[in-house]
Amino acid sequence: MAMRQFKAESKKLLDLMINSIYTNREIFLRELISNASDACDKLYFKSLTDTSIGVKKEDLSIHISPDKDTRTLTVSDNGIGMTKEELEKNLGTIARSGSMDFKAENKNENIDIIGQFGVGFYSAFMVASKVTVISRAQGSDEAWKWESKGVEGYTLTEAEKDAPGTEIIMVLKEDTDGENYSQYLEEYTLVDLIKKYSDYIRYPITMYRQKS
Ligand code: ADP
Ligand code: MG
Repeated sequence: MAMRQFKAESKKLLDLMINSIYTNREIFLRELISNASDACDKLYFKSLTDTSIGVKKEDLSIHISPDKDTRTLTVSDNGIGMTKEELEKNLGTIARSGSMDFKAENKNENIDIIGQFGVGFYSAFMVASKVTVISRAQGSDEAWKWESKGVEGYTLTEAEKDAPGTEIIMVLKEDTDGENYSQYLEEYTLVDLIKKYSDYIRYPITMYRQKS
């Protein structure tokens, strides 16, 4: 399976995320929830003009699912989804030159740049050693899996998914003296973060509890 390369700008941003100089790692959840919400919006607006879609606003939602056994945190939505081409384009070529230029100018200052600008999907790499995205586009019956452990690249392979939407599966990094990633598997931490970061989200966010 061939490893695909990130575009140069994406690689730079990804590198920043992985070797994060930012201490505010928890914002990854805000970014993923906001993407899930955007995906629901896109499907909802499409359904207004395309009656064949038959999606009602109340059908759309976001799920968060921690699993301590596999050390994974999954954020999923039943929004618009992505085709293979969209996975490649949207997740392989993110260029945030604006915030990166800003960062370059403020090297020595401890400014919460991510908090101010948002960095999007790649922020998942602040907490995850591997990120898997399984997506099926609305109107398509094929699903694709995008997977990456970081700057060395990503793979795209065919996958299975019952319904349209997107699933972001993060294998959390191992804890170190200074960093506690396991907290993102704890229900109470997740509930706090969801409350904190879902102010403007108009879709229900539910949490699948750990099977025990
Ligand atoms: P932004 O949200 O500002 O466009 P991101 O880095 O957060 O930037 O996401 C990049 C792109 O990836 C989005 O614009 C969108 O096209 C796609 N994307 C990310 N998450 C999802 C998702 N859950 N469903 C559908 N598309 C997504
Ligand atoms: Mg985003």
